Amino acid sequence: MTRHASSALFEMRGITVHYGGFTAVDHVSLSLPKGRAIGIVGESGAGKSTLARVAAGLIAPAEGQVLLAGQPLAPIRRTREQRRRVQMVFQNPDSSLNPSHSVYRILSEGMLLHHTLGSRPSREVITRRCLELLRMVGLGESAGILSRRPQAFSGGQRQRIAIARALAVNPDVLVADEPTSALDVSVQHEILDLLAELRQTNGLSLMLITHDLGVANALCDDIMVMRGGRSVVHKSTEGLFADPGPQYAQDLLAAARSVSIAPGMRG
Ligand code: ADP
Repeated sequence: MTRHASSALFEMRGITVHYGGFTAVDHVSLSLPKGRAIGIVGESGAGKSTLARVAAGLIAPAEGQVLLAGQPLAPIRRTREQRRRVQMVFQNPDSSLNPSHSVYRILSEGMLLHHTLGSRPSREVITRRCLELLRMVGLGESAGILSRRPQAFSGGQRQRIAIARALAVNPDVLVADEPTSALDVSVQHEILDLLAELRQTNGLSLMLITHDLGVANALCDDIMVMRGGRSVVHKSTEGLFADPGPQYAQDLLAAARSVSIAPGMRG
């Protein structure tokens, strides 16, 4: 495979995934420049989560390639550095956070594994970084939070902790799989605002998986609509809303609710 010079930080080319004889993702390609956000939208079963898991290196595609800064990534056995650079936030923080670990442990594990604070950081240095992360995700800066376990927090707060854990290792790409779907409607907006803000302040590239076109519209520069494992539309968000194309995308658009995030947060 030749190396391509490309402006995309993160690329997926011709990704195909089979589960047994069933094709869940069928030759899907996308490219994500630095600091941009792409929304992967479609109904349940469209293949969105499967694509997200390939992006994060959690499952290997039968065909296709994932590239980071022009370099092909190993399908699953990514190097530690490659794993650091692409982080994932899951739908349900209750299953993605170990309930018996303290917030300190949850946040520091990745930093220690990836040596983002040097090879043997002191507890003081780690604590300072943990508090910085908590502030970044809007959980305050009280050291007392670090000794608590996930159950001590609300669902929205737990998702903030999961986001802080992903950010702890300074990733370039954040893959967020329905990050607000398990949360109360009242806190969904807060998490979307947070993702938009982090994208701006940290220059993160975001791949956002959502069944909700309104959410993708609020947060993303580009949108790919998936159906039955295929990409049926892939356009700029403005372009999609101006001209959704196939009937399926028109129907999704007609059903989309309007989701607004804090002014100036997008793009
Ligand atoms: P989405 O995220 O859009 O809901 P998924 O990627 O979760 O879609 O699933 C796509 C299709 O693949 C669905 O039909 C689903 O039932 C199937 N699928 C997902 N995971 C597995 C699995 N581990 N084994 C078999 N089939 C699966």
